[in-house]
Amino acid sequence: GAGDVVARLAGVSKDYGGVHALRGVDLELRAGEIVGLIGPNGAGKTTCVNILSGLVPPSGGAVEVLGIDPVRTPVHRVAAAGVARTFQHAKLFGRLSVLDNVLAGAHLVTRGTFLRRLLWLPSARWDERAAVVHATACLERVGIADKAGLAAGELSYGDQRRVEIARALAADPALLILDEPAAGMNRVEAAALGDLITSLASDGLTILLIEHDVGLVMRTCDRITVLDFGAVIASGDPAHVRDHPDVVTAYLGTE
Ligand code: ATP
Repeated sequence: GAGDVVARLAGVSKDYGGVHALRGVDLELRAGEIVGLIGPNGAGKTTCVNILSGLVPPSGGAVEVLGIDPVRTPVHRVAAAGVARTFQHAKLFGRLSVLDNVLAGAHLVTRGTFLRRLLWLPSARWDERAAVVHATACLERVGIADKAGLAAGELSYGDQRRVEIARALAADPALLILDEPAAGMNRVEAAALGDLITSLASDGLTILLIEHDVGLVMRTCDRITVLDFGAVIASGDPAHVRDHPDVVTAYLGTE
């Protein structure tokens, strides 16, 4: 329900050889919250995301996502448990249609289709139609259903980022991790993206937003955690973080 802990990092560290990418990071996401994760280049944001989604094991500390330990769980099962993410650089199949790109995400919720097709069961056809209906609904959710038939590569950069979000939504996630979704967007596109993120959270989705556009993060997030050199230097609501002296010096002051 609302307010339940969806994900938690407790005292998490990550070393790459001699590089301390994370040093004792605490981070908690509660159901329906939009949490921002910001910090300068190399601060450790992507490492946090990779640990939450089970791609990278931490060197120390505890991790819990949707009641499972992503370290001890195969990546596809972390995804099946309800963790979906987008990547820093949109990874779409440029020649495939927008719809097919989203269907690639929908396979998680319609996994039975392949098996039924193999066994020649009649329900396979219906399932595929259901997947298309589901993928189309996800495209509607992000406002680009009218572009379903176009090749993904033909879309504007902003629209490609939306396709990525639709593909993540197609897996029916409880936690959506957005890694720099506004990168390459103009001001109008970024503002519209902020509205979309807010409306996804009001549907009950929990969102972790990694973003360099500090204005977007301040406007959109309920809480913000600031990383610098792998450590949390501030955490709290946007006003608290904006006025925090360490944040001003370490990060916002250099913008
Ligand atoms: P950016 O905003 O540039 O994406 P970030 O905040 O996401 O940066 P990370 O990518 O998490 O930062 O990197 C944190 C630190 O860990 C950096 O010093 C980086 O060089 C280092 N690092 C990350 N991944 C590896 C790796 N696979 N091997 C060695 N060092 C790594």
